[in-house]
Amino acid sequence: MCGIVGYVGKQKAASIILEGLKRLEYRGYDSAGLCVLQGGRLDVAKKAGRVDVLVKEAAKHHFNGSTGIGHTRWATHGGVTDANAHPHVSSDGKFALIHNGVIENYSGMKKFLIGKGYTFQSETDTEALCNLIAYHYAKEPVVKNGGSRFLESVRKSLRHVEGTYGIAVLCLDCPDEIVAARKASPLVLGVGDQEYIVASDASAIVSHTQSVVYLKDGELVHLTPRTFSITTLDQADVSPVVDKITWTITDADLNGYSHFMEKEIFEQPLALENTMRGRFSEDGSTAQFGGLNLNAAEFRQIDRFLFCACGSAWHACLVAEHLIETFARVPVEVDYASEFRYRNAPLDRNTLCWVISQSGETIDTLAAMREAKRKGHRVLALNNVVGSTIAREADGGIYQHVGPEIGVASTKAFTSQLLLGAMIALYIARMRDMSFSDGAQYVQALKGAPDLVRTALKQAPQIKEIAKRYAKHADFLFLGRLSLFPIALEGALKLKEISYIHAEGYPAAEMKHGPIALITENCPSVFLVPKGDVFNKIVSSMQEIKARKGPIIAIVTEGCELPPGVADDVITIPDCHPAVLPIVATIPVQLLSYYITLERGCDVDKPRNLAKSVTVE
Ligand code: GLU
Repeated sequence: MCGIVGYVGKQKAASIILEGLKRLEYRGYDSAGLCVLQGGRLDVAKKAGRVDVLVKEAAKHHFNGSTGIGHTRWATHGGVTDANAHPHVSSDGKFALIHNGVIENYSGMKKFLIGKGYTFQSETDTEALCNLIAYHYAKEPVVKNGGSRFLESVRKSLRHVEGTYGIAVLCLDCPDEIVAARKASPLVLGVGDQEYIVASDASAIVSHTQSVVYLKDGELVHLTPRTFSITTLDQADVSPVVDKITWTITDADLNGYSHFMEKEIFEQPLALENTMRGRFSEDGSTAQFGGLNLNAAEFRQIDRFLFCACGSAWHACLVAEHLIETFARVPVEVDYASEFRYRNAPLDRNTLCWVISQSGETIDTLAAMREAKRKGHRVLALNNVVGSTIAREADGGIYQHVGPEIGVASTKAFTSQLLLGAMIALYIARMRDMSFSDGAQYVQALKGAPDLVRTALKQAPQIKEIAKRYAKHADFLFLGRLSLFPIALEGALKLKEISYIHAEGYPAAEMKHGPIALITENCPSVFLVPKGDVFNKIVSSMQEIKARKGPIIAIVTEGCELPPGVADDVITIPDCHPAVLPIVATIPVQLLSYYITLERGCDVDKPRNLAKSVTVE
């Protein structure tokens, strides 16, 4: 993970880089650093801690150069220390480098370079690459055909790298230039008026320019204040495609909210509207998607789906499985992307694969997609970030259109994935046995989802009060059945990732096969209790917990009558169509986690040890 940003242009680089790092901080916040090329030297400021710590450190440096690079780190190799913070400078003082990813063969490289007299200041994998560039630069003073010696030494070095990288490099001998490159880690180039910004994502760029080039794996970009050129590792020229960012910087601001998570929770009605806009058929009985690159006849041939994802997106896959199997009667398998990649799963010919990743950069999901494609399967992707690697490499897909999600804990991206899962289920069901009138009813239900979420959000003050009473507990269970079992998993994940409370999600009836041993008056259970077939069964599970003095928060759909005394606290959500229920039921578990975390004084948007998009294996 980690965020990288580089600037070449007319303005002072440091302030642009620091602003960019603030925007990218959600990607990693173990340390931050920056290097500006000025006064004939590579001036570096770097510190363990947040970007705010770096801002104070940078103030001592009088940065005024107009070429620089900056980094916010999520440590993979080496502890969280000042020395391990990026940028790293080669031991001959010629190069400074920032890196997102992992150099898997760094130890062999390091041994070789130590043998050549290079020295190391950090424990990182990154520093080996920095010194390797210096080595190639020193070794080959003349480049054939008048090319750039700086660029060629980076290119040559990258050919030796096993692993992943998004890098940006400064060279002391080329004061107005940056070379940046990527393999599996994202990199976007912002094209301004006689200035360029290269960054891990567009949030660091959008306040300067809306014009961007999404770099592809194996590409290098060479920036000077007036030009840029893109080439491949094999030295082939690449004609850049300049895209326009469709959102503005205010979408990435707090806009009066205290935290991005809070803002993104409350933005969900709008996010859902944006996700479904234009995606229902004219007759109002099914969903339609522009980018599947698969016609109805081809789609109809598919008799099995495989969904792969990580984290919250994996929970969204489980809900999609339930809805597709229920409404379309097509078997679905769900796998963790990281497991699928290595378990050599047998897939039959008519299996269609879907991968889900908000960022479109999740490395495990990307690897799973590549594995499925290698086996000759068509892969469709569900992503939020336009132009992301997964979106580009997939055979087709659907964008979520929820705008930037900055809180590390996913909220609006998750419910939008639930919505798209429900729409995919409808699309498949209508190709099979679902009637026109059932389809039309389903569509109406989905169209009503934003308002139902608005209603569920009105419970926020009550949930805040409940959170105050439960925030002291060290363990929680989240229990649900059928389509709400994944929401129980999501509730537990939300709570543990931001409040550090241990929480487990379980199918409600499974609880008696183990987790019930945990129940005491100090281990609350959050039950998801919808109307319907399993209502009485869930109530029995609640009784079993109550008999053991376990506190219970029940999230019930309107109109459910719980027996007296079975729940300590009740949160009511609107009754709704089964396709919408998981979306609406997610709202109280998000709010509960958010308010419990506030009570405990933890950093909601930047929980410890986590980062937003996991771009390392
Ligand atoms: N592997 C590098 C390190 O540990 C970069 C990690 C990152 O992507 O932030 O420093």
